[in-house]
Amino acid sequence: VDLANLAHQKAVLPTTRFPLTINGLTIHTPDKGEAINPATGQTLASHALADVSHADKAVVAAKHALKSWREIPQAERQAMVAKLADTIADRREAFIRLLTAEQGKPRAGAEWEIDGSIHWLREVAQQSLPSQPIAQQADPALKVSVRRVPLGVVAAITPWNFPLLLAVWKIAPALVTGNTVIVKPSPFTPLCTLWFGELAQSVLPPGVLNVIAGGNELGQFLAEHNDVDKVAFTGSTETGRKVMRSAASNLKRVTLELGGNDPAIVLPDVDVEQVAPKLFWAAFQNSGQFCVATKRLYVHDSIYDQLCAALVRYASTVTVGDGSLSSSALGPLQNRMQYEKVLSLIEDTRKAGHRFLLGGRPDEQPGYFVPVTLIDNPPDDARCVVEEAFGPVLPLLKFSTIDEVVERANATPFGLAASVWSADVNTADSIARRLAAGTVWINQVHAFSPSIPFAGQKQSGVGVENGDDGLAEYTSLQVIMK
Ligand code: NAD
Repeated sequence: VDLANLAHQKAVLPTTRFPLTINGLTIHTPDKGEAINPATGQTLASHALADVSHADKAVVAAKHALKSWREIPQAERQAMVAKLADTIADRREAFIRLLTAEQGKPRAGAEWEIDGSIHWLREVAQQSLPSQPIAQQADPALKVSVRRVPLGVVAAITPWNFPLLLAVWKIAPALVTGNTVIVKPSPFTPLCTLWFGELAQSVLPPGVLNVIAGGNELGQFLAEHNDVDKVAFTGSTETGRKVMRSAASNLKRVTLELGGNDPAIVLPDVDVEQVAPKLFWAAFQNSGQFCVATKRLYVHDSIYDQLCAALVRYASTVTVGDGSLSSSALGPLQNRMQYEKVLSLIEDTRKAGHRFLLGGRPDEQPGYFVPVTLIDNPPDDARCVVEEAFGPVLPLLKFSTIDEVVERANATPFGLAASVWSADVNTADSIARRLAAGTVWINQVHAFSPSIPFAGQKQSGVGVENGDDGLAEYTSLQVIMK
């Protein structure tokens, strides 16, 4: 027994149980899953492990609970969703520590995610889609109204980079609009979601919110299940394709938030010293494990050398380390698979002969640490430009004309987000309109809100999360005429 590790666990874990939640019951299983602390590579906690029979029971429970849940007044559902926020807010510090321990992100990032989860639950609890009468010009006697009805049972399938926030992005709108939910978190980061599912039972009727943790096969099972009416999915484009195929069985609705390869375009009129830290965090927030991280940095050739130097200088002020230490600003990668994937991308970059401005070698410390890595103007077809690294690896790319950079920025199957940086907001805006991306930020990045729709173009996604459009994705239209 590793006593030091046990003592550390005790300090970090708010509970040691982490059961599944099905039909309002906490379920402990003989087989356990293990969550690893990515900063140490050691076991953090064991948790209940679902198999497909648990997933099936969760679907039966959600289907049964739907009958009464969809009929209760929306205001009551909204009040319960607001109370879900309190279950997290009352344990804010414990959630922050647990998230850092299981995901790896340092405190500032964990606060952002936990506070964001609370904020989303409270804000979405105030959203609604009212029934609307439609005036008929041709036949004034005809009364037409359009209402929004819940879809039914929703499977929410989430990744490991923002495990709680991305679950809440699905749970809140699904419940407010009268659906019931089964959440299946990533096998790499189940703890915060399992704990939240357990706490939520003090607020919700049984079966309205079920949480099952286990392998990828659970996701596939839910995506294929005939009694699941919608899959709300965040994850990779490859898995998104599989979900869409599975969902075809009963033509279930899908919302897919997938991968990205976001360009940032930096015009020659910026204040280089001022934008360098912002660009740094645009790329390296959450150690680059962010669907909307800047993954290609296009810099006008007149300021390229100056910006490279400023980024290298700024990077030297940022400490990479165990997220539970207050000195760490960047944590490890979340899991071994991703760590090895990013190291192989770095190795490939080295073999191809591209030049590193910074980083490029694995860290010596235990855990899944990769240093901040900047690559000097690799060709457009280099792997580190074409692929989503999903780690702290950023290619810097020179451009000379707007037409050229717009074409290069758009030359990707992804279309999640982008950013444009300029002292002239009008010029930046005119470039933004030419970019094939669902969100374009100007002189900023990563601004999200429960009221602002978020949707990927091209192979970055299908459908919308957040805003009225996001809420509507949990409903069907019903037209009543009399
Ligand atoms: P992943 O696709 O490997 O896994 C996501 C989830 O899908 C996990 O819960 C997994 O168990 C489940 N799953 C696996 N196979 C499945 C199947 N056949 N059917 C149904 N579910 C299945 O993704 P990941 O590695 O956890 O996350 C990283 C990816 O997520 C990156 O590509 C990133 O860009 C993307 N991402 C996108 C957004 C966005 O909003 N667009 C946000 C965060 C992450």
